Amino acid sequence: MKELRYLSGVTTLRLDQDICVGCGQCAMVCPHGVVQLNHRKAHIVDLNGCMECGACTNNCPTRAIHVQPGVGCASYIIKEWVQGTWMDKYITNNCC
Ligand code: SF4
Ligand code: SF4
Repeated sequence: MKELRYLSGVTTLRLDQDICVGCGQCAMVCPHGVVQLNHRKAHIVDLNGCMECGACTNNCPTRAIHVQPGVGCASYIIKEWVQGTWMDKYITNNCC
């Protein structure tokens, strides 16, 4: 998903291929095609497309892929979406 981006070079996404077992879960759950499986290892193919949703981290059996969810892009964009709506009061302002 190339059109939904925030800032380049700010994502906390990290991948340790040494402990990746090639299950493909991260590639399957990533909504933005950031990760692909190649030769039974995960590869980050679009780092700046990562919205830090945390789906890959939550589904990785070995913690080979890691991100700090909600501290960057995804948090910022969600706040922009809900600003001024009834959901606004449920979002804290202690980030970004
Ligand atoms: S945090 Fe979300 S957007 Fe980023 S690589 Fe993982 S699943 Fe994809
Ligand atoms: S979910 Fe984890 S172990 Fe599975 S392919 Fe992705 S990084 Fe590797």
